[in-house]
Amino acid sequence: MNENSDVMYRLLVQGVVDYAIYMLSPQGIVSNWNAGAQRAKGYRADEIVGQHFSCFYTPEDRARGLPAQSLETARQVGRFECEGQRVRKDGTLFWTHVVIESIRDDRGHLLGFAKVTRDISEKRAHDLSLLEAKRLAESHSAEMASLSMFLDSVIANIPSSVIVQDAVSRQILLVNLQAERLFGNAREHMIGRQLEQCLAPALSSYLRRLTDQCVRTEGLHHAESQQHTPRGLRTLRSKTVTISGKALGSSYVLLIVEDITDENAAQARIRHMAHHDSLTGLPNRALFRQRLEEALREDAGRDRMTATLCLDLDNFKNVNDALGHEFGDRLLRAIARRLRDVLRANDTLARLGGDEFAVILPELKNGEDAQFSAQRLIDTIEPAFLIEGHSLCVGLSVGIALASKDQNTPEELLRCADMALYEAKRNGRHRYEFFHPRMDAVAQKRRTVENDLRQAIVDKQLHLHYQPIIDKCDTRIIGYEALIRWQHPQHGMIMPLDFIAIAEETGLIHELGALALREACHEAQRWPGELTVAVNLSPVQFRNNGLVELVQAALADSGLDAARLELEITESVLLDNNQANIGILQRLKALGVRIALDDFGTGYSSLSYLRAFAFDKIKIDKSFVHDMSDSNEAIAIIRAITGMGRSLQMQVTAEGVESDEQFMRLKAEGCSHFQGYLFGRPQPAEHRAR
Ligand code: C2E
Ligand code: CA
Ligand code: CA
Repeated sequence: MNENSDVMYRLLVQGVVDYAIYMLSPQGIVSNWNAGAQRAKGYRADEIVGQHFSCFYTPEDRARGLPAQSLETARQVGRFECEGQRVRKDGTLFWTHVVIESIRDDRGHLLGFAKVTRDISEKRAHDLSLLEAKRLAESHSAEMASLSMFLDSVIANIPSSVIVQDAVSRQILLVNLQAERLFGNAREHMIGRQLEQCLAPALSSYLRRLTDQCVRTEGLHHAESQQHTPRGLRTLRSKTVTISGKALGSSYVLLIVEDITDENAAQARIRHMAHHDSLTGLPNRALFRQRLEEALREDAGRDRMTATLCLDLDNFKNVNDALGHEFGDRLLRAIARRLRDVLRANDTLARLGGDEFAVILPELKNGEDAQFSAQRLIDTIEPAFLIEGHSLCVGLSVGIALASKDQNTPEELLRCADMALYEAKRNGRHRYEFFHPRMDAVAQKRRTVENDLRQAIVDKQLHLHYQPIIDKCDTRIIGYEALIRWQHPQHGMIMPLDFIAIAEETGLIHELGALALREACHEAQRWPGELTVAVNLSPVQFRNNGLVELVQAALADSGLDAARLELEITESVLLDNNQANIGILQRLKALGVRIALDDFGTGYSSLSYLRAFAFDKIKIDKSFVHDMSDSNEAIAIIRAITGMGRSLQMQVTAEGVESDEQFMRLKAEGCSHFQGYLFGRPQPAEHRAR
């Protein structure tokens, strides 16, 4: 290189502004400086030439020995190249691309280093932003991928079947898992096809109709229908809607199908449970009410009528108590079957609870039809039920109410039928009775009496009167029968016949009976000698498990000798050979008290009662005494009873003796004891006949 070209070259280098080009001595001292170097680093040539090049490095790089390392590399391999941060004169940092080349003479002697650097701050920033964009793009696409997977699994797993079709071509574009299951075809066999090409004809034409309708008219469409699917006959609830796609003119039909067969069945089960009695499967009170309402609505304006029947089993409670609930349940089911069998298909038999049944007889021509049905119901229950070797007789009483202008709501009719039922039971059971408005007044009165009676017990308005009982030998008073009286604050004295039955129905008899027992024992304890007291026990009191203990306590509390207490029971206590009650009677007798059979001759008066239990006394009902003067039949019955008393060694008391003539005859017939107005009326303790 000649001198000229050398100068030109130097000028050229010094003029280059885009690159910093300068030379270092072998020790790294800057020996020249070009315009590019000045522009990049801010030093003028006179400021930097003669300085060590490490001043361009950051303190950290200097501490790591980077300047020396780069020269060493260039010295050893001829060239060093890197990118890094350097420091300007003003202390600011910039990114630069550095090339250091070693310069040697012909003999290989190191003359120094040529250093070419280029400011790459901008490029670097660009690169960085590219990198950032790339990172962002990558994370975004990962997000998109996971979002799409998420949506896929949502669609696959929503509990409805989803099919998406192109609105025009009707090609299936999407099928989820549920749809595969319901329609019995795999996704890959459905996608790209039309419904007709992948589903059974009936099903596909049904779905086709839904989508057609949806495409024709905008909006959400609902449908519900039973369809034969590969899973059998199923109830399908469908929703269809069209949605427009992104591309112009593209739209899709979204078909969402739910299989609601099981749901419907569950609901039907719940409905059935809510409307039926679980024991017999018969309609319950709620459904009964509903049906009755419907029947009454149908009647309106037609010459047909609806009858409501209330049914009550006459002896069910005894069976249930004696043989247990499981047995009772079986009996109820058997009864329900028999009742149902004699009704028409459109009649409703319902179990309202316990042993209470009710019947709706709709569309009757007249009241007689109701009467026939009632009699059929009574007759079908008549034959004994055979259950587990037991032969059980239960009777049926029926109350009938016919819908009329006054009685035309379900509640009203049930109430009336119930009143008629009460009447049927009162009139002897195993029979039916029609409702009559007068029953309403009676029922009203009964309710009032019930309320007053409750109060009477609290307010101590109940007292005992005592009627003497005479011995035949010397017309001596040997004891008294305690008869209850109610001193009502408004109505004055009320006799037991007007409230005992109500006390029995309402259970108040338990309190009333206990009260009578206690008071009678206390009173008798104060009487002289061997005078006895007779207390009446209601059959209802025998349902109380504590009856024996109650009697025991009354004796103990009063200190009365058990032999001075007589308990009077009626034969209904022994009805149907009630073993439980006979047991109670035996335990009572074991206490030392005497047991009398009251009102003999009025009821069934079966001789078997006298064999079932060893009574101490029979009381001849006063109706026979009253009739004896002009009825041979009455005399015959009295004679039969006294005869039995003699042979079974029981005392026989004649009740209701009002005249000397009666007294004489009864004595002649063999009665041992007498009671009646002739000897004394029932009186309060302090005024009792002595
Ligand atoms: P009952 O046990 O047959 O009592 C006899 C009834 O005949 C009494 O009626 C008595 O007053 C009445 N009587 C007595 N002598 C004559 C007479 O010469 N002529 C007439 N016509 N009647 C006579 P009462 O006191 O009205 O009692 C009626 C029924 O009420 C009793 O019949 C009894 O079954 C029941 N009763 C009375 N007190 C009680 C009680 O404390 N508990 C229970 N469970 N029932 C009672
Ligand atoms: Ca009595
Ligand atoms: Ca009596």
